[in-house]
Amino acid sequence: MPVAASVADPVDPILALDPGARGIAAFFARGGALAAAPTLLRARRVLLTTGFAVADGVAETDGPPGTAVLGRALRLLGAQVRYVTDAVTVPLLEAALKALDEPVDILTYRGEPGAAPALLQRERPTHLVAVERPGRGRDGDYRNARGESVARWNAPLDDLFLLAQRGRPASRTGQRRLAPGSPPPLRTIGVGDGGNEIGMGNVRARLVRQTPLFARIASVVKVDHLVVAGTSNWGAYGIAAHLGALAGRDLLHNAALERRMVEACVAAGAVDGITRRREPTVDGLSLDVHAGIVELLRQASGRIAVPRGRRGRAS
Ligand code: CA
Repeated sequence: MPVAASVADPVDPILALDPGARGIAAFFARGGALAAAPTLLRARRVLLTTGFAVADGVAETDGPPGTAVLGRALRLLGAQVRYVTDAVTVPLLEAALKALDEPVDILTYRGEPGAAPALLQRERPTHLVAVERPGRGRDGDYRNARGESVARWNAPLDDLFLLAQRGRPASRTGQRRLAPGSPPPLRTIGVGDGGNEIGMGNVRARLVRQTPLFARIASVVKVDHLVVAGTSNWGAYGIAAHLGALAGRDLLHNAALERRMVEACVAAGAVDGITRRREPTVDGLSLDVHAGIVELLRQASGRIAVPRGRRGRAS
């Protein structure tokens, strides 16, 4: 991104914060949330996925809150919003949505053969969003940040994104004209913080240059817009902040709701993805940190400079 664009984007430096020392600077995608928002502004049907199972029957606190906040923002903007995740994450996402008083419309994905094309055909989404969702590596396996396989606990939901990529016009820019009457291409957005999630295929070359561990866990699954943040929830909040600036309305939650969402996820069985403890923390960071980030984003969102003529318009 040019310097001027990043100055006009006070959200980006907040997403780049890395208090957990995850090393995100090595693969941070500058301006990611800024670029994703216009694509989502006039989305008609959005299918959002999240959920990272760290052990059998146990999923983590990062992902469902971010997904719920972004889904709420899109619903308030008029989109039809539906969620899809595997059985282990359904109660967590449901808890996060209920904490926001949001409708709970979650499809359970089991990943049987043919499940992904059937789902796309049935739902006909215009946009796919993944927040902290495992993406396969080059060898087809799914790994956690320690390099261990998590494939047996996480259904291959990245199939949806691989299919969307495959259905894309073959031009390098993606701008090639489609045949008259054909549906517009399905747009994809991925949010992650570890290198092993859906969307990290966009920065895989940078990841493999880092450490052998990053090279091992790096996902090959690409998206149209990648958003990297110190914790994946924050990346989704950053998109909601930009959507709010474009739409001229407040689409973010607040510190109190952040606490309520994370606590509800833990009550529904979630654990911290790093400490593996069943306590209201996310990525090893206290609720105070997450509440503070939400308030920082609220401050920043009021200072996003939207170019004239851009407000309320889709691109
Ligand atoms: Ca995370």
